[in-house]
Amino acid sequence: NSKDLGKDRWTCFTGDLKESSDQEATLELDLRRAIRSDEFFLVYQPQVNLRTQEVTGIEALVRWQHPTRGVLSPGVFLPVIEKTNLAAPLGQMVIDKAVKAASELEKMNVDFCRMAVNLSPSHLKSGLLMNDFIDAMTRHGVTPDKLKAEVLESVFLDETSNHNALLLQELHDLGLHIELDDFGTGFASLTHVADLPINGLKIDRSFTAKLLTDQKKEIVINHLIHLARSLDINVVCEGVETDAQFDRLRMMGNFSVQGYLIARPMTFDHLTDWLASVQGDIAFNGV
Ligand code: C2E
Ligand code: MG
Ligand code: MG
Ligand code: MG
Repeated sequence: NSKDLGKDRWTCFTGDLKESSDQEATLELDLRRAIRSDEFFLVYQPQVNLRTQEVTGIEALVRWQHPTRGVLSPGVFLPVIEKTNLAAPLGQMVIDKAVKAASELEKMNVDFCRMAVNLSPSHLKSGLLMNDFIDAMTRHGVTPDKLKAEVLESVFLDETSNHNALLLQELHDLGLHIELDDFGTGFASLTHVADLPINGLKIDRSFTAKLLTDQKKEIVINHLIHLARSLDINVVCEGVETDAQFDRLRMMGNFSVQGYLIARPMTFDHLTDWLASVQGDIAFNGV
């Protein structure tokens, strides 16, 4: 009867909850170990201007080379990272590797514009972020004009938003570019954008995915492109997967795109091969 069913469901429910918090605790221990033993690496995805095909940026994305589970995506472990005190150590590592990659590309004379690093909200809160950038730039001899930082619009909206905005302003003053990631999925209003220390908007891939089937998405993208142009900020449209999407976007303006159609996120070696193939006329030392 229904009473028994309810009881079963309850048992089952508490069982699952316990299991998931156990799993989370295990994952946290595993992550601590992984940070100590340097199991994280970055993959790189290019952003290109859809008119000129120039590379206008490269986004660094973190991966975990797990000893038994294979390569894990950030979706699996970032939620736990954000809840613990691991965001700053992981973030520091990501910044160091991304800046090092930028330095290597510069040595190869590759014109990649800026290397983009995703900033973790907890790392922002930690107060260590600025120093981590300065340390990495000093260590690898990279100037801020080769770097940009991607932040979620939520960092400007929660209770630490004032602190975050000041910190991002400092990074911006130093010469880094700041871009709003996944734009359109949060609650940042368009008027808000004008007051923030940002150089660019990344239009979330949920808009791109429905560009050809949902006219409202097309209207929003159009609007964002025009807004960005009038505020003199850059646009990157995320998640471009098909020629049809590319062609439609190309009709809408002059901006950058990123997605599987252009290139999937790649290891550093694949990235340099890819860059050599699209920038064949640029001098490559030793590639
Ligand atoms: P994001 O910054 O919005 O990055 C874009 C995500 O979309 C990446 O997933 C990328 O692999 C994926 N993607 C790129 N092109 C396409 C496409 O054409 N179609 C589809 N379906 N997906 C595409 P990934 O690497 O799994 O990263 C997920 C999220 O994790 C990122 O979203 C970012 O918020 C976060 N993240 C990644 N790396 C880092 C990092 O180093 N630090 C921090 N704090 N967060 C990171
Ligand atoms: Mg990003
Ligand atoms: Mg994004
Ligand atoms: Mg995202």
